[in-house]
Amino acid sequence: MNSPAGELAPVVLSAPSGAGKTTIARFLVESESDFAFSVSATTRARRGTEIHGVDYWFVSHPQFQRMIDEGEFAEWAQVHGEFYGTPLSSLREAGQGGRQVVLDIDVQGARQIRGAVPQALLLFILPPSLDVLLSRLRGRGTEEEGEIQRRLRTALEELRAAEAFDFFIVNDDLRRASKEVRDLARKRQPADGGPSGSLEDAQLLRSGVEALLNQETHSDRK
Ligand code: ADP
Ligand code: 5GP
Repeated sequence: MNSPAGELAPVVLSAPSGAGKTTIARFLVESESDFAFSVSATTRARRGTEIHGVDYWFVSHPQFQRMIDEGEFAEWAQVHGEFYGTPLSSLREAGQGGRQVVLDIDVQGARQIRGAVPQALLLFILPPSLDVLLSRLRGRGTEEEGEIQRRLRTALEELRAAEAFDFFIVNDDLRRASKEVRDLARKRQPADGGPSGSLEDAQLLRSGVEALLNQETHSDRK
């Protein structure tokens, strides 16, 4: 993938599932006219209010495979057993008029984008605490409890990849966190007080998720 001179390198948002990166990405593109969302393609089923071409391009497995074969993706990965990818056409469309492109993708995709565009800004969104993460996962109401366990295991994998990221942002208040993402995207460096989160915060959360999953594995065995 090329990032021709004059085109802004993309901002990549990744996070443990439920931390709120989709909410931040949506809030940002709705409130800032110079930001645009790159619409991913996925093989997963459409959820309640999602719109084809707005939230995702919902495609079949054969269609997704054809897009891989024809080199149509900037990156793609398998997440929670389904396929997700960033079509080059979505990146081009989002970046029209010099807009700042925002990608809401998993850590595997973030690494691929960094490989293709070293200047890309990799931001890791963190929940304020493990309890808040759990309540956001449950509160979203789109997943069964078994699926939540699965997402927690994926969250662990995401947290293990945190070292590859440039900055960590705590999603406590949506407006504040979105403003922090916006300012980092524009200046490419944190404000005087520094970023709201750190790699240590991610590591602490990781230990908490690990302990919780171990506890649940043990109680399953009883
Ligand atoms: P992700 O994309 O990281 O998996 P979502 O954006 O889907 O997470 O957010 C998970 C849930 O948390 C959603 O119900 C969303 O409305 C809620 N949420 C996101 N950010 C905040 C916030 N700052 N305060 C309260 N709730 C939030
Ligand atoms: P969801 O099914 O909850 O919308 O997304 C599941 C995960 O897939 C999230 O971590 C989301 O960021 C990630 N994802 C969405 N689109 C893409 C994409 O184009 N590429 C990659 N690698 N991950 C994606």
